[in-house]
Amino acid sequence: MINLVLFGKPGAGKGTQASFLKDQYNLVHISTGDLFRNNIKNETALGLLAKSYMDQGDLVPDQVTIDMLEAEVDQNPQSKGFIFDGFPRTEAQAGALDAFLKTKQMEISATIALEAADDILVERLLERGKSSGRTDDQDESKIRNRFEEYNQKTAPLRDYYTQQDKFHSINGIGTIEEITNRLTQLINTL
Ligand code: AMP
Repeated sequence: MINLVLFGKPGAGKGTQASFLKDQYNLVHISTGDLFRNNIKNETALGLLAKSYMDQGDLVPDQVTIDMLEAEVDQNPQSKGFIFDGFPRTEAQAGALDAFLKTKQMEISATIALEAADDILVERLLERGKSSGRTDDQDESKIRNRFEEYNQKTAPLRDYYTQQDKFHSINGIGTIEEITNRLTQLINTL
């Protein structure tokens, strides 16, 4: 079983790469951002709650996010493994994920960060915002707030996973195919 975490700031290409990797390695792709957006579209209570945070570019509270993630893993008992995209984003989420996987005799195999400079990411996100309709992609101050959330709350996870010898990073600048190749080269050594 292979369980991967993709890190990277908003716009780093996590979702794009996860959709290739899931096919290549036969994994279930779980994006907490997509799950929240589906809840918002379906006007669920969870969606209503999440929207107030997402609209500002803030993180949704940990326990809400952890419960949603665990429910999604539980819905895929036959999976050969998972790609976690956009989760964990805080140390509390990382700890909860480790504990949860342990109860299932599972563990994270590796975490991989896609690295790219902020200014390039802002450009990518503003471009994506034109077609995706995502309001959090259309306003530079909200985008910068999401980077700030990442720097403060998610970047410390580098140390968390380095201590477990599970942290890797790759250059996230290049064509989609180049980055997929970098990822698969790395994953094939795991
Ligand atoms: P993403 O699609 O991963 O960029 O996520 C979009 C938004 O969803 C984020 O800015 C957060 O508001 C929320 N979100 C997604 N994943 C998480 C998470 N693991 N923890 C807290 N909030 C999250």
